[in-house]
Amino acid sequence: MSAIQTTGERQSFEKLSLIAAHSHIRGLGLDDHLQPKPCAQGMVGQMKARKAAGVILKMIQNGKIAGRAILFAGPPSTGKTAIATGLSQSLGKDVPFTALAASEVFSKDISKTEALTQAFRKSIGIKIKEETEVIQGEVVEIQIDRSLTGGHKQGKLTIRTTDMETIYELGNKMIDELTKEKVIAGDVISIDKSNGKITKLGRSYARARDYDAMGPDTRFVSCPEGELQTRKEVVHIVSLHDIDVINSRQQGFMALFSGDTGEIRSEVRDQINSKVAEWKEEGKAEIVPGVLFIDEVHMLDIECFSYINRALEDEFSPIVIMATNRGISKTRGTNYMSPHGLPLDLLDRTIIIKTEPYKEDDIEKILSIRCQEEEADIFPDALRLLTKIGMEASLRYASNLISVSYQISRKRRAEAIDIEDIKRSYMLFLDSTRSVEFLEQNRGDYID
Ligand code: ATP
Repeated sequence: MSAIQTTGERQSFEKLSLIAAHSHIRGLGLDDHLQPKPCAQGMVGQMKARKAAGVILKMIQNGKIAGRAILFAGPPSTGKTAIATGLSQSLGKDVPFTALAASEVFSKDISKTEALTQAFRKSIGIKIKEETEVIQGEVVEIQIDRSLTGGHKQGKLTIRTTDMETIYELGNKMIDELTKEKVIAGDVISIDKSNGKITKLGRSYARARDYDAMGPDTRFVSCPEGELQTRKEVVHIVSLHDIDVINSRQQGFMALFSGDTGEIRSEVRDQINSKVAEWKEEGKAEIVPGVLFIDEVHMLDIECFSYINRALEDEFSPIVIMATNRGISKTRGTNYMSPHGLPLDLLDRTIIIKTEPYKEDDIEKILSIRCQEEEADIFPDALRLLTKIGMEASLRYASNLISVSYQISRKRRAEAIDIEDIKRSYMLFLDSTRSVEFLEQNRGDYID
């Protein structure tokens, strides 16, 4: 029997080192009409939930859904986090996406509401538009003094348009840029003044006759007439939280790297809100509501829920996506039972997307994709046994057995995981049901 070859191209060793649970997800797996494909971009089945997520994606992209809450509700291991991950990947890099496990809100360093405020503000992007000058012209002369000590090169760059000549003092960075672009006299270049970037546009027409020997790839361009400087719009995207941190005098921007921002004063945030509103008014900035994903949301308590309720009404509110596997349960911090452990007023403004238990086929496909992701080849009958375990115990448990079985198969230098490897790892590691049975049988040995 031949093993299912799951490893097309072997990845580098570094890539193997960190295989996160959702690393096989590359998007929502939808077609151009936002209909879910049965198996695409690492996503399998769960068609209704993925279709609903596709509608949400479109609404986010059209900027129509800020300040709303969405709840993924369904049994454990039914792909709630996987779908949220797929959604974040489909959004693209310009839309901020913050993921948070509800338990992370509780820490001794900052209050619950501060942790939530930071998460909300990390999920709001501010697109800041800036104008910069771009200079274009023919290079007349480059002089570089390489004799300088300390590794610093210096020099002079003269560029000219039809009516003007400008001389630049060259520093190390500019010289590096010129070398990188292989700029020589006679080239037409542009210099972006915002970042000093030099781009070679081609060779000047004026000098064309001097270069009979130029190769066929040489592009000849004319120097821009008249204006030496043109204006270009550059766009930066930062989060509201980044602006908070940079402007918070206690923390300073270094906190952005350490992540240790502490509490940020509300006056700082108020000032920033009015500044951003001003920029927006003047057309200098655009607000990009992103997504805040809160996993295991039932772990939040009533104070957090009332904070979220209020924050959703704020002018700068992201889309809040929550996930839970709880049914009717107690809302933390109260004695009330409620659906999914969420207070009714928050539920009332929430759109609920249900995920359903998987059929055998889907579990098999997901496990097969996970094997590919972990670069573990597996025989078909071993995959069938793993699928059976996935049905009876849980998808997550079966998925965890892949790496253990792979190690066992490698120890005996096998080409792929076989049934015996799966059986051995199943015996070595208990799933939750067998763990409970074991505890009941050995109650006397444990402290109650
Ligand atoms: P819980 O309620 O326990 O947090 P969950 O519903 O968030 O569970 P996930 O963590 O998304 O479940 O799924 C468990 C594992 O199965 C993950 O590795 C996930 O990537 C994978 N998975 C789940 N559903 C799918 C799917 N439809 N397609 C591909 N992979 C999936």
